[in-house]
Amino acid sequence: MQNPNTSNAALDPDLLQPPSRARPEVLSVQHVCRGFNRNQSEQLVLDDVNVTLREGEIVGLLGRSGSGKSTLLRIIAGLIAPTSGDVNYLGRPLRGPAAGVAMVFQTFALFPWLTVLQNVEAGLEAIGVGPQQRRARALAAIDLIGLDGFENAYPRELSGGMRQRVGFARALVVDPTLMLMDEPFSALDVLTAETLRTDLLDLWTQGRLPIKSVLIVTHNIEEAVFMCDRILVLSSNPGRVVAEIPVPFKHPRNRLDPVFRALVDDIYAKMTARQPGAPAKPELEPGSRLPGVSINLMAGLIETLAAEPYNGRADMPDIARTLQLEVDDLFPVAEMLQHLGFAEVSEGDVVLTHAGKTFAEFSTQERKLMFSEHLLRHVPLAARIKTVLDERPNHRAPRVRFEQELEDLLSDDAATQTLDSVIAWGRYAEIFSYNDKTGIFSFADVES
Ligand code: ADP
Ligand code: MG
Repeated sequence: MQNPNTSNAALDPDLLQPPSRARPEVLSVQHVCRGFNRNQSEQLVLDDVNVTLREGEIVGLLGRSGSGKSTLLRIIAGLIAPTSGDVNYLGRPLRGPAAGVAMVFQTFALFPWLTVLQNVEAGLEAIGVGPQQRRARALAAIDLIGLDGFENAYPRELSGGMRQRVGFARALVVDPTLMLMDEPFSALDVLTAETLRTDLLDLWTQGRLPIKSVLIVTHNIEEAVFMCDRILVLSSNPGRVVAEIPVPFKHPRNRLDPVFRALVDDIYAKMTARQPGAPAKPELEPGSRLPGVSINLMAGLIETLAAEPYNGRADMPDIARTLQLEVDDLFPVAEMLQHLGFAEVSEGDVVLTHAGKTFAEFSTQERKLMFSEHLLRHVPLAARIKTVLDERPNHRAPRVRFEQELEDLLSDDAATQTLDSVIAWGRYAEIFSYNDKTGIFSFADVES
């Protein structure tokens, strides 16, 4: 729900931190565009993106999966070039990777045959630091990030959280000015992620990190509000910065604080707001990417929405809490229900349609039938698989056939994900069956 009461003036000044406008600029991204060739035509991924980072701030780049966040980060890291536009680092044009820019990824490719210490030293060796200094600096970084005692452990002996700490140590040991982080906590379980975020923020607020500013990419609204001083919201297709939201709260922040919740709600509404000129419900196309959303989640959301206290309408962050999901995990579920005609999403609310309410009241078998009708009507890929099976004399077709078609339109990963989703939904709806071992679609076991 749109919350107009997040205006900063109403907040207790003791909670606020001073703005960082006057501080020197570390990075500026100006009018950056980037396209990729796909299917003989250029697909625009980033469109006129402008970002300025100043000393002393943590800036969040918030956007949905596929919006171009990693692409922008790779441009800033100097790993790929923009199609047009400029990137300036410390006032100079960026050409290739800059020495003072370090990157932390979602999961780290640590060298399995090297110990923690050797893994951290490896980055320094690459830039020609001598052995003694290497050791001293690596030990300091390991100590700082809370890995002391694990110096001689091998990656396989470490938990996911500890491995990610090695990732941070590897980024910090080069003494970077700017640290880029690409969804650094999203591969970790909830508690580990929170511990790592808090540890990092403690080091940052105590001034113990050897960095001037941080740019963190995330698809998680709460994470952005928890960590950042400023949040840039990136739209999808193409990626544009559609909102810049200051987060005025001091650290440590309390997720349960009403002002914290209000800001999360507000950003949520901004992210679900329809863009000017966009249709209310974009129709799926044969090559549309489909999210990895399970039938259980979709049915669970419909049932919860239909019941008290929601009676068909809910504020998404609110119902996410009821379902014990992060609001960002609920996003694709609600959106898929919208595509299927079971719900409408707008301004951060999700509302059941008449079909959605009916589904909630149906028995298992009736649900399957209804779902199959909606799936065939609204998801062209499901209809296409059925048509191909109908047309073939033996009513069989291999997965590769559809996979190849999709790969012309999507990245390989997205094509695989999309096909896996449609297989799971089509099986539930008993539209077709699919044999995992042979990779063959058929009508076996499907009652008609
Ligand atoms: P995000 O990190 O926000 O999930 P990405 O930056 O990874 O998004 O990708 C944005 C879009 O650009 C996606 O549609 C993706 O398929 C496409 N893309 C990214 N890298 C490449 C590439 N090297 N070649 C072709 N398309 C790419
Ligand atoms: Mg990414």
